[in-house]
Amino acid sequence: MKIAEKQDRASWLQSSPNRCAIVPHPDGWPWRLVLLGAPGAGKGTQAELLTARLTACHLSTGDVFRAAKNRGKDDQTPALVAALESMRRGALVPDEIVSDLVRERIDCLRCRGGFILDGFPRTLPQADLLKQLMEQEGLTLDAVVNYEMPLAEIVSRLSGRRTCERCKAIFHLTTKPPKVEGTCDACGGRLYQREDDSPDSVKVRLKVYDSSTAPLIQFYRDLGVLMPVTATGSPEEIYSRTIRALIARAPGRGIYQPS
Ligand code: AMP
Repeated sequence: MKIAEKQDRASWLQSSPNRCAIVPHPDGWPWRLVLLGAPGAGKGTQAELLTARLTACHLSTGDVFRAAKNRGKDDQTPALVAALESMRRGALVPDEIVSDLVRERIDCLRCRGGFILDGFPRTLPQADLLKQLMEQEGLTLDAVVNYEMPLAEIVSRLSGRRTCERCKAIFHLTTKPPKVEGTCDACGGRLYQREDDSPDSVKVRLKVYDSSTAPLIQFYRDLGVLMPVTATGSPEEIYSRTIRALIARAPGRGIYQPS
């Protein structure tokens, strides 16, 4: 079956007016998901894997901020400079800035290819905004996947995480080491540790998660869309668990079977 090609995410990362080329999905698509879970629970890795099977676009607000950080200072508004400073400390970017950023990218929510939201919403006001935008567009969420993981494992995952500066592939010093130290297996790019994975920032991020993001679990449970998934084991195991849970939740929905 011919399905959508992987979207390039330029519209999401830069809020560019150019729409990405989407091949219309067959019946049963598109998927619209939110991924929840503490920092380090593996949302980014799972979003990448799920993108291939569900052929929906991976929309990460953290990636938008990181892309903005790499643009020159001249292209950064004062609000963005303040947002990037919050990010560096591991604190949340203020809701107003995140809301503006998502509103500017409303086309990505409307997209016929569907989406996998990773890192948004992160607070109750953001969850209200998403609900309101989706109602306004006549869209519904298929599921909110909550990746559950013990605290000790979260800390170990974050401190060992390394990211490719070129293709953004994610590695881990012990659980998914690159073949050559410091070098990406996929593209040969340099691997770096995210500034907000430093021990001080990790402490702040976990505290922020507990106070601001954890309440979203009840919010989505009340809406009947919460889908808990245990996030221990290898990325492939967690991914298979997620796919099985999605199939059980929505039998008959489109899931691409690689040949
Ligand atoms: P992430 O890659 O999702 O872990 O995000 C990295 C950082 O970007 C977070 O620690 C926050 O500083 C900022 N950030 C990303 N998404 C949001 C959001 N929805 N609300 C507030 N801050 C965010």
